[in-house]
Amino acid sequence: MIQFSEALDIVKANTINPGTERVPLSLALGRSLAETIFADRDTPPFNKSAVDGFACKAESLDAKLEIVETIPAGYEPKICLKKGECSRIMTGAMLPIGADTIVMVEDCTVDGNYMYYKGVTTRDNICRMGEDMAEGDVAIASGTLIGAPHIAILASMGVPNPLVYKKIKMGILSTGDEIVEPQVSPGKVQIRNSNGWQIYAQAIASGVYASYLGIAKDIKESVKSSILDGIKSNDILIITGGVSMGDFDYVPETLEELGFKILFNKVAVQPGKPSTFAILKEKDNISKVVFALPGNPVSSLLQFQLLVKEWIYSSMESKSKAIWTKIPISLDFKRKNSSRLSFIPGKITESGEFEPLSYNGSAHILAMGDANAVASIPIGTSQIQKGENVTIFILE
Ligand code: AMP
Ligand code: MG
Repeated sequence: MIQFSEALDIVKANTINPGTERVPLSLALGRSLAETIFADRDTPPFNKSAVDGFACKAESLDAKLEIVETIPAGYEPKICLKKGECSRIMTGAMLPIGADTIVMVEDCTVDGNYMYYKGVTTRDNICRMGEDMAEGDVAIASGTLIGAPHIAILASMGVPNPLVYKKIKMGILSTGDEIVEPQVSPGKVQIRNSNGWQIYAQAIASGVYASYLGIAKDIKESVKSSILDGIKSNDILIITGGVSMGDFDYVPETLEELGFKILFNKVAVQPGKPSTFAILKEKDNISKVVFALPGNPVSSLLQFQLLVKEWIYSSMESKSKAIWTKIPISLDFKRKNSSRLSFIPGKITESGEFEPLSYNGSAHILAMGDANAVASIPIGTSQIQKGENVTIFILE
């Protein structure tokens, strides 16, 4: 059995290279940027007004000012301001030469061609050329996961088709004789397939192409043909169930028979101990990857977040967006067995504490419905007192 941190290192070291492509901004959300974007001009590109108002010389504000020009956004001012003059100016418009201050329209009275200032100036309301970024500076680093702010930056830097990593193709296979699809009315001893759809959802949210591959029976041939089918058209396969020590858990041996090398199959983590990671090599390159996760729904949900996502992001040369932090726990916590790193679901309270939820273990997917964070309890820690810090990560 290996430690969780070792498992994570192995996962990050055994990625694939999905290649790159250019996509329009409309399709760039969630992709990993495969080029560094440098500012193509200063931001702002000229001294501009932050408000609707009047541009003038601050020294002349104590008297009436003659309005000599109106400057809309997108118009280059023609008149150089002298003492006693001002120009009406709109937000985003270029500051006229000679002006050093813009006063807000709300603080001014206009009488014909003259403006009287009745406010108290505290700031000049000018956004200065280059104050946000100078031409040539790094605007977005390669490997950034593109979110809405990055779309705005790409657009403003004139990058309508950014180079991004191609989407990884992920197949999702459930296993188990007892598993039926959600639309099926389950028999007495049957369970509806929650893992397949939960993993599908996480896959989509992680920016991969997800293919749902159905449910394999706990028969070796069924497991084998489903895996063979799945790896044909995908880079990575996520299998749930059939990885433990049961008589009908055929996944690990089938992977080996198909030429996969199992890099780990037991991790000192709870839930998720039998999590298995296997690679298939073609010459010296990894051509296919399989994560076989335990069937219990909380195990597969958390191990996807903790291991699979990290593999996806590492393959796209990007850092995970996972937020880990330390906050105080809201009540006393105890556990009997502290031999594994343990993840427990909870809620972040309004006062910023971690409140563990009532949780019956790895089959208790309903507990996750109320959770927005998970605390990691280190090996050897069997109790934590109310108010002590715990390390948590925010559930996405
Ligand atoms: P296994 O890892 O195959 O031994 O399964 C462990 C537990 O998870 C069993 O109680 C299974 O019924 C349950 N389980 C396995 N696969 C799924 C699935 N796709 N959806 C919901 N529960 C599952
Ligand atoms: Mg099973």
